Amino acid sequence: MTNQTLLSSYDMVLFTAPSGAGKTTVVRHLLEKYKDDLGFSISVTTRSQRPNEVDGRDYYFVSEDEFKVLIAENKLVEWEEVYSGGYYGTLKSEVDRLLSIGKKLVFDIDVYGAQSIKDKFGNRCLAVYVKPPSFNTLVKRLKDRKTENLDSLKKRVNRIKKELLFEHAFDYILLNDVLEETLSEAEKLIENHLI
Ligand code: ADP
Ligand code: 5GP
Repeated sequence: MTNQTLLSSYDMVLFTAPSGAGKTTVVRHLLEKYKDDLGFSISVTTRSQRPNEVDGRDYYFVSEDEFKVLIAENKLVEWEEVYSGGYYGTLKSEVDRLLSIGKKLVFDIDVYGAQSIKDKFGNRCLAVYVKPPSFNTLVKRLKDRKTENLDSLKKRVNRIKKELLFEHAFDYILLNDVLEETLSEAEKLIENHLI
C-alpha cells in the first residue's frame, strides 16, 4: 500500500516498524536473495548480543562509552536511545563503504531514526513501514521470539504504542500477516524500485 507515488529508482531502502513486526525477517530474506545488489547498513549498538547474532554481521556491539565517543566525533548519520540504556546508530563509514562498492543500501531502523534517514536522503531512499496485523499479534511474536526478559519486553511493549502511530509517515506500508505474501511483496518492491 503506497502513501506516495513511488519513484522508479532509489539508492537505498529502509525498513522500519514497531519491535516484533518482522522487519529483520524481511531484511534478512532480501539480503540473501539479492546479495549481489544489496548491502546491509550494519548499525552500532550498546544492547547485548543475542545468541544467534554475529558481531559485524547483525550489529557492531560496543560499550556505552564507545558509543558516546562515536557521537562526540560525529561519526553517526543518526542515533537514538531506542530503549533506556539501549543506544543504536547508523555509521557514516558504513553508508560510504556500501555506496563505494556499488551496493544499494538496506537499513533496519526504528521509526525515529527512519525519519532522520528519510529527511537526510529524501528521494534517494524508499522508506517502508512494516505493519503488524494487530497489537496482540505483535506482542505474541515478540514473546515467541524469546529474545527478551520481562524488563526488556515491557520496555518494547510500552514503545510499540507510540511506534504504531507512524504507519502513515513513510512511503510504503508493507503488511506482515502471512509471511510468504509479505516476502513476495517486498521482493517486488526491490525489483521494481531498486535494482
Ligand atoms: P523485528 O525485527 O521487527 O523486531 P523480527 O523480524 O525479529 O521483528 O520478527 C519478530 C518475530 O516474529 C520473529 O520470531 C519472527 O520469526 C516472527 N515473524 C516475523 N514475521 C512473521 C509472520 N508473518 N508470521 C509469524 N511470525 C512472524
Ligand atoms: P533490536 O534490539 O530488536 O535489534 O532493535 C531495536 C530497534 O532498534 C529496532 O526498531 C531496530 O530497527 C532499531 N535500530 C537498529 N539499528 C538502528 C540504528 O542504527 N538507528 C536507529 N535509530 N534504530 C536502529
